[in-house]
Amino acid sequence: MTLLKIAQIGEPVLRQRAEHIPIEELQSARIQSFIDDLIETMRDARGAGLAANQVFMPLRICAIEVRDNPRYPYKPNYPLTVLVNPELVIVGSKPAGESFSNFEGCLSVPNLRGRVRRACAVRVRALNRHGEPITIDVRGLTAGTFQHELDHLDGVLFVDKLEDPRSLCTWEAFERYHLAEFADEARALVARFGA
Ligand code: ZN
Repeated sequence: MTLLKIAQIGEPVLRQRAEHIPIEELQSARIQSFIDDLIETMRDARGAGLAANQVFMPLRICAIEVRDNPRYPYKPNYPLTVLVNPELVIVGSKPAGESFSNFEGCLSVPNLRGRVRRACAVRVRALNRHGEPITIDVRGLTAGTFQHELDHLDGVLFVDKLEDPRSLCTWEAFERYHLAEFADEARALVARFGA
């Protein structure tokens, strides 16, 4: 397996809408091996998710996994999930239209975090890495992670969606000034949504 280079903000590939991938191409050895590399790179960089265009491959594929992540100590674990050609089919319908303020970071936006409003619940329809259709309902912080990754595939970064640009801070400042407060908010979300 190969660790891939992660594009940093300013790289045009992060701003392009990634392309739909045909199922035959998905099942090719080249793309299957790319997906292994994407997962390995996400784990090595301790991301909660990684989109293909973040590693210079402009295809609609992303990986998500949370396993006791030290970058996000308040995030509940979520098993490894690969989404291919994902679509948000329901946004925030349960409970209706509700949203929460998520403090996000990104492997493509070095050392910055900021608050973004996310739907409390989303349903995602996609293919898994083998080309089988899947439907996933996610809520709470996990729903935030999914929305962040799907945004990448449309060329959108979390900094485009800040609730207030003044919430932007370094990781050090986050830990010093915001972690305790946000960890409380995160615990309340987990208590309510189980995620
Ligand atoms: Zn990101």
